[in-house]
Amino acid sequence: MEVDWSTVDKKWQKKWAENNDHETNSNDKEKKFITVAYPYPNSPQHIGHGRTYTIADVHSRYLRMKGYNVLFPMGFHYTGTPILGMAKRVEANDTELIEGFKTLYKVPEDKIKEFAEPVKIADYFHEEIKSGMIEMGYSIDWRREFTTIDPAYQKFIEWQFRNLKEKNLIVQGSHPVGWCPKDQNPVSQHDTLGDVEPDFTEYIVIKFDLNGVKIPVATLRPETLFGVTNIWINPQVTYQKIKVNDEIWITSPECARKLGFLEKKIEVIEDVSGSDFVGQSAKAPHSSDSIVILPASFVKSDNGTGIVMSVPAHAPFDYQALVDCKSGKNKSIGGNLLSNIQNIEPISMIKTEGLGDIPAKDIVEKMGISHQDDPKLEDATKEIYSKEFYEGILANNTKQFAGKKISEAKDEIKEWITEIGSADILLELTNSPVKCRCGAECVVKLLSNQWFLDYSNKDWKKKAHTCFDKMNILPNEISSEFDKVLDWLRERACARQHGLGTKVPWDKEWLVESLADSVIYMAFYIISKYVNKKEINGNDLTDEFFDYVFYGKKDSGEIANKINTTKEKLEEIRNEFSYFYPVDSRHSGRDLVPNHLTFFVLNHVALFPEENWPQEIVVNGSVLMAGKKMSKSMGNIIPLREAVRKYGADPIRLTILISAELLQDADFNVEAINGIKNKLESMHESCAKIKSEEIPELEPEDKWIFSVLQNLASNVSQSMDKIRFREALHHILYDFDSELQWYLKRAKSKQRTNISGILHKILAYNSILKNVLDGQTNVGTIIKSLIADKETESIKKDPDFVKKTLNDILSEPAELRKGRMNVGQVDEREIISSELSSLVKSDYNVELDVFSESDSKKYDPKNKAKTARPFKPAILIE
Ligand SMILES: [Zn+2]
Repeated sequence: MEVDWSTVDKKWQKKWAENNDHETNSNDKEKKFITVAYPYPNSPQHIGHGRTYTIADVHSRYLRMKGYNVLFPMGFHYTGTPILGMAKRVEANDTELIEGFKTLYKVPEDKIKEFAEPVKIADYFHEEIKSGMIEMGYSIDWRREFTTIDPAYQKFIEWQFRNLKEKNLIVQGSHPVGWCPKDQNPVSQHDTLGDVEPDFTEYIVIKFDLNGVKIPVATLRPETLFGVTNIWINPQVTYQKIKVNDEIWITSPECARKLGFLEKKIEVIEDVSGSDFVGQSAKAPHSSDSIVILPASFVKSDNGTGIVMSVPAHAPFDYQALVDCKSGKNKSIGGNLLSNIQNIEPISMIKTEGLGDIPAKDIVEKMGISHQDDPKLEDATKEIYSKEFYEGILANNTKQFAGKKISEAKDEIKEWITEIGSADILLELTNSPVKCRCGAECVVKLLSNQWFLDYSNKDWKKKAHTCFDKMNILPNEISSEFDKVLDWLRERACARQHGLGTKVPWDKEWLVESLADSVIYMAFYIISKYVNKKEINGNDLTDEFFDYVFYGKKDSGEIANKINTTKEKLEEIRNEFSYFYPVDSRHSGRDLVPNHLTFFVLNHVALFPEENWPQEIVVNGSVLMAGKKMSKSMGNIIPLREAVRKYGADPIRLTILISAELLQDADFNVEAINGIKNKLESMHESCAKIKSEEIPELEPEDKWIFSVLQNLASNVSQSMDKIRFREALHHILYDFDSELQWYLKRAKSKQRTNISGILHKILAYNSILKNVLDGQTNVGTIIKSLIADKETESIKKDPDFVKKTLNDILSEPAELRKGRMNVGQVDEREIISSELSSLVKSDYNVELDVFSESDSKKYDPKNKAKTARPFKPAILIE
């Protein structure tokens, strides 16, 4: 039976809107405040975006059905640079972008013309996304909607920034950032193609000396300087002789460019060939030894300085390259040099239990590596590096560091080389190439005199750890990721020169960056309702106002006067904030773990008292399209609104939920939607067929199917509590179906004709379960939805049944027992007595006595009865 999904969707959306079903105010019920990362409106939403929002919506609806007063609001994040870049491209008449708007996003031509103005792009897609959310049936309280460029929001962000600065958590300084050289702006995940967060690491540059010219090598292992035997240069590469401040260096051209972004004055003197240096010697900083420069093909010009120090005892690449050199196969090594290098031997300088003296040699031989371009050398390197880092002890030939652990001595050695004037630093992207949305390749820049959020602050990190430890994180396995992110986090630039957003309040040349103005906005949902109702004016809001609403500071009457509102209104806002805060659940995609979600916690612990710290984070994986990542360039994006029009909201919601558990990537495809659609339609059909009839005297199989049903309710509610929606859906759509088939088989074997009433009761029940996931909200709506269908009209006569079953589905485990008993069609004592007694007796020749817990005549010397639970009888064996 074909269902007209579009009519069903529209009917309910209209009813919800008419009844203001999703508008939530404070009341005397227990509340839940559910939020999800607000969208950045630079394109319409596609199926991939739909996942996070659908999960958050189902979570909200589920909690509502459990009786909570649930607030689920939505805002729009206009801040950032991508929209600015798009506007510039429209202005420049970029045909690729404009074609995309026309064909993929179906934007009318006259609208595209307006897109040269950034805010028009944001406004257009804002409305597009909002319509899609309504069509998907999200139960959002739209009275609280806002954008991050609204005057009231900007006042709120100014308050946040002034507050953080007062606490010394925003500091001015010089720190490295990901940087777009074209836009001259720091870049973070939101600004890059493919949404990659630029990640970088600090190399120590050790400078060897060749007649006054510096031969710099970049390393992550400065301690291995004590094991250096030679230097590697690539004879095929053209290097540059450059002036770095007052010194002359030899580096690859790539390195020279990188150094230019690190606050160094760079002047290129001339090109020099790598081969010219082969056979020359340079003085090491830690001894009077001359270190020979040898050729190696594994040395890459885009990595470090393009020159490497060789530590063959502990670095597999170096060991293998040395073997290659000594073999005589290398054409750039002449006869004299070849004989001179035969006596170079690895210098062992780290002792590690379980590793030999020359661990690089051992692993190269074990892995069967025979040349320096073998990719297996990467694995070999990682293995030795990590073992030596954690367990290695510096040997006697490491001067004052002998006997120390590598993990402890690393920084001391770095300082020591710096003190003797032979060290510098080089910052490198570890995930290069990272491309800015403008197309330019990003670099690491040392940004000086800039505003930074001091995420390296130890006390701040500690507080955030405390919050994470107390918080519920779903799925649980992601907790350790947050701990790692917190530990590695360092100062982060929080101002930009371009884009939409709020000006840094004390330095109006700068704008607050988009991952800094989007971390505590959940608190703003309380205020936005009053701004939208025009009960307060955004332009009037002051720091005192926010201090009062969030902290209850100072006198409400005085502040109300200053912002042109009444004392009562102000107190109402404060009370509503106190009622809804803290955030009970924050939903977001996995890609926001290393930035937004961690910053969200850091900023909350900095700005709010402990009772208002976030309670829960729910993280979900992304959505693949037929196994592939969705992207505009792949052309495999399905816009959400288009999909809803084609398949209906419920089939899409259920397909998104059933295709994967939280953290897994969900694989979405058209067959899957059709499968779900057919399943829903056939369920609807079987429900519609069955007439309500008098329920007969229950036979054992009837009792059995009712007990299966109650188990189903309990399993579903347990799955829902853990946000395991896929599992819950499987219970409802598939597991129960097979049980039902078994029931029908049993009934049929007895040639029963009186089961229609029972089936009717069960399938009403099952559609209630489905409603929980589909989107109906309360008992009233469910009854309405059921009687809307003529065939199920009789349910009207038995609203108690719906209520009871609802309670059962939704009850907490503690209440589960009560719920089951209320519905209880099953007399356990009776079943156990009649069906099990004979079985036990015949198999074990044991007399079985069954008592109910309340039976005053029960035989229970060990007082076991009190441990009995429904469906879990206590057993006493004598
Ligand atoms: Zn750029």
